[in-house]
Amino acid sequence: MDLGKGLNGKRILITGASSGIGAHFARVAARHGAHVALAARRTDRLEQLAGELVEMGAQSARPIELDVSDGASIHHCRAQAVEAFGGLDILVNNAGIAREGAALDQTAEDFDAVMDVNLRGVWLMAISCGRHWRDTGQPGVIVNIASILGLRVGSGVASYAVSKAGVVQMTKALALEFARHQVRVNALAPGYFETEINEGFFNTPAGEKMVGRVPMRRIGDLSELDGPFLLLASDASRYMTGAVIPVDGGHLVSSL
Ligand code: NDP
Repeated sequence: MDLGKGLNGKRILITGASSGIGAHFARVAARHGAHVALAARRTDRLEQLAGELVEMGAQSARPIELDVSDGASIHHCRAQAVEAFGGLDILVNNAGIAREGAALDQTAEDFDAVMDVNLRGVWLMAISCGRHWRDTGQPGVIVNIASILGLRVGSGVASYAVSKAGVVQMTKALALEFARHQVRVNALAPGYFETEINEGFFNTPAGEKMVGRVPMRRIGDLSELDGPFLLLASDASRYMTGAVIPVDGGHLVSSL
């Protein structure tokens, strides 16, 4: 097996590519010579990023408008990615939102919004790509972006934690069913990384306290996700499916 090839020539679709972790993974994939489809609602950002990616080494980069809370938009996005590259090798199911606040203060609309994007959107995208790979007989790879909050809990993010626990179990359930179609399904469970989803939080007293509970005493740098991401997205993990890998500075093993 040539591990050096990494993502070279691979066709990858990344949801939530307009900021944070998704935009970062798009740059990593570009540096490794992939064809990158960038999907999100803010297409102005995607277009700007697409230009950057080609200069960085992407074989090609295609911005695609996507709202993961809309099933038709998901189907259209997947079809556009396949059309643009003549096929698809990897899906990175990354789009996500959080609605913070005490569970008792959350509305039904808050709960539904989080589930629509973080759980239903991830499911529908995985199923759409899974059907494509089954119907074409091509192998595929799915990397779901879960969270350490899918494995343990924290205050003020209950609906988010519920949705991410669903992503963890979905990863295992789909890995079991998709293996016969040569489709691998794994997940990353990041700890805390500064992006728009948690903007400003790490400078608050609660944020500083939280960082103090991380065994490594700091939040992660996005570049520290690169190795685990490349492992799961590439053939380096070709005998792995149903795995959930935490990348969290030891946060999950913090002392009780
Ligand atoms: P950002 O807020 O920076 O990025 C979220 C992305 O999701 C954006 O690109 C946004 O694009 C997209 N998105 C949100 N709603 C939709 C929608 N309805 N349809 C399509 N795209 C949507 O946060 P992060 O980069 O941090 O988050 C990325 C993933 O990583 C999420 O799943 C998050 O839960 C997870 N994660 C993040 C951690 C962290 O510490 N940052 C820790 C653990 C997990 P747009 O608004 O343009 O549609």
